[in-house]
Amino acid sequence: MGCASSIHISDRVVYQSGKESDDSQQTNTTPAPGLLIKPNAIKNTFTQVQFGPMRLYEDHLEVLLVFAKEDSQNNGFCWACEKANFRCNVARTPEAALECFQEKHHDLVIIDHRHSRYFDAESLCRYVTLLYQPDREEASVMPLINAGFNRRYVENANMMACYNELLQLEHGEVLAQFKLRACNAIFTALEQSQEAIEITNEDQVIQYVNPAYESIMGYQQGELIGKEIIEVPKSEKNKPDLLETINSCIRKGKEWQGIYYAKKKNGDILFTSYVSIKYSGDERVQAESQTDIQSSKHKDRRKGSLDVRSTTSRGSDGSSQRRHSSMARIHSMTIEAPITKVINIINAAQESSPMPVAEALDRVLEILRTTELYSPQLGTKEEDPHTNDLVGGLMTDGLRRLSGNEYIFATKQPHLPSHLAMPLSLNDIPPHVAQTMENEDSWDFDIFNLETACLKRPLTYLGLKIFSRFGVCEFLSCPEATLRSWLQGIEANYHSTNSYHNSSHAADVLHATAYFLCKERVKQSLEQIDEVASLIAATVHDVDHPGRTNSFLCNAGSELAILYNDTAVLESHHAALAFQITTRDDKCNIFKNMERNEYRTLRQAIIDMVLATEMTKHFEHVNKFVNNINKPLAALEENGESVKGILTSPDNRILVKRMLIKCADISNPCRPLELCIEWAGRISEEYFAQTDEEKRQSLPVVMPVFDRNTCSIPKSQISFIDYFITDMFDAWDAFADLPNLMQHLDNNFKYWKGLDERKLHSLRPPPE
Ligand code: AMP
Ligand code: ZN
Repeated sequence: MGCASSIHISDRVVYQSGKESDDSQQTNTTPAPGLLIKPNAIKNTFTQVQFGPMRLYEDHLEVLLVFAKEDSQNNGFCWACEKANFRCNVARTPEAALECFQEKHHDLVIIDHRHSRYFDAESLCRYVTLLYQPDREEASVMPLINAGFNRRYVENANMMACYNELLQLEHGEVLAQFKLRACNAIFTALEQSQEAIEITNEDQVIQYVNPAYESIMGYQQGELIGKEIIEVPKSEKNKPDLLETINSCIRKGKEWQGIYYAKKKNGDILFTSYVSIKYSGDERVQAESQTDIQSSKHKDRRKGSLDVRSTTSRGSDGSSQRRHSSMARIHSMTIEAPITKVINIINAAQESSPMPVAEALDRVLEILRTTELYSPQLGTKEEDPHTNDLVGGLMTDGLRRLSGNEYIFATKQPHLPSHLAMPLSLNDIPPHVAQTMENEDSWDFDIFNLETACLKRPLTYLGLKIFSRFGVCEFLSCPEATLRSWLQGIEANYHSTNSYHNSSHAADVLHATAYFLCKERVKQSLEQIDEVASLIAATVHDVDHPGRTNSFLCNAGSELAILYNDTAVLESHHAALAFQITTRDDKCNIFKNMERNEYRTLRQAIIDMVLATEMTKHFEHVNKFVNNINKPLAALEENGESVKGILTSPDNRILVKRMLIKCADISNPCRPLELCIEWAGRISEEYFAQTDEEKRQSLPVVMPVFDRNTCSIPKSQISFIDYFITDMFDAWDAFADLPNLMQHLDNNFKYWKGLDERKLHSLRPPPE
């Protein structure tokens, strides 16, 4: 009902959400554990009253005697009050009585009605009253009841008679009033509840609905009260005998829980409910809590609402509580996403499952509810610090440890190369540079030769060659000069001072991308627009990379982290900056001549691929690829059926492109050994530089194992391959058939293992 944690009811009423206490009435001086109590509610001594699951604390009764003058009857009540330990005030005039009452709000007012010449008792009557009226027993009490009196007391000054009268009042009228106040508090809570609640009698006649119910179901309270419960035709969703099942269950005093369908006012939307129905007290009433899974109206309000069972199912065992909580939580998801359908199917299966199965399904539901569906659970830090640091460094946004120390990574204006106007076309490529690119279509192509030959600007040269091979200019209807300026503009915005994330890495990823695009399966799956998007995405995917990880930027409070809300900071920046550079200047706008819709599609694909390089989503992308592509392909091939549908569906093409750029991005462990070692040295150096800077700036050290004084590079590579590379390339190889890459990966892994077994920390063994 959502009230347990937040509702304060009144000074003297406490809601107990735990087990019901057996003792119905007791005097106590300390509050029971687990109660919600307003601190000033419990005075030194008080009466404790159990009312359903509520425990009410009543302070000493306050009695007001309105007697015009002191006499034996007046004194009889005064003594009786003292004996009963009630607080007593005496007023001699109606004015004094009113003033006193307004201040103290007495539980009981006793008015002397014997001498009407002193004051008019009827007009003074308030709240609980006792009439004192001698010698007129024969007269009807009706006028007095009409005036608001509850009881008539015939003159009797005997102290015990007064005392007994007071006790009867305390345990009758006053107690009833006290419980009624608690009822009002409960209804106030129901009114505030964000769960829809409906109370009916056993004939299904609605007695109460709360505002959440009105709003979810689309009815006004007036349209429902006194009417029969709105039932969905039996044929629609509810089992035919559902209401009978519920009734027979609650008739036996048991609680019924399950899925229930009701119809909204607009008729066409079914309202799926999780219902908890139970008798309440002596009255045969049933209460149900409903949560609309199809209307989003209540989405925000319902956030944080608690389990209705906390108030309706006391005494149930813990596992059933858990089942209900997961149901309630899942039902508060408002979108009909595929995952919602899966969850609903599981919910329905739980209904008819034995408890062990239902509990196992509960655990499944818990997992399905998380967003980290694809991230494996890691062992403890002690078990594998290298993996732990890599995962922490690459897969989090640095939220683990925050520092007040601010490192500002300035977002600067994109860099414009001075040599932009330099005449350069494929024909202008210097022969020695051209020579290094001769085998650029081979996996064993040596990017570092090209890097040296072209003075660390390999992206433009390799880009020109590869883009030309794939007919990119023709596809974009763009002159080669524009492509050249664009490549130069993009390359100029890579930081040549980074040891790893420089334009050679971009050129390497472009090379791997082009290589993968030539694989038969990839060609069958992708269209030319996908190929063009892939080549452009690879070229720009790390543009303006600062040589620091996302975690670092978040910890440092960099401008970029603030701009992108600590979420996919670098990847968002690479994609956004790439389009800024491209579209700001017509001279390098390769998209300028594209038809608007085609441009939108291409842009979308490029952005999606660049964002897919974010490592926090690594396992999501790999698993989606395996589940949606690898597995169905294997099944179809086994049966000799056509795989075209799987390969070319728009959704799967997106998954193929994501996997393609991811594999290209971290393909360095699959390169020939010498290249692999060089990349490992470069990435390690970049991580070391980050650790150095973190220490210098007193920032949290994101990957402590990457400390240049202590790091074991072989261990870090073994962890990186084990954790990120092996499974991904197994899947990619199964799809694209890459035996040479797998062979290199195997060799390289053995190489790192060999060094590690010799306890070497360096990239290479020392010279013999
Ligand atoms: P990107 O920044 O787009 O290149 O994403 C790839 C991530 O993998 C980067 O964070 C790199 O630091 C990381 N990475 C790539 N190669 C290696 C490697 N050999 N060892 C450790 N981390 C690597
Ligand atoms: Zn990269």
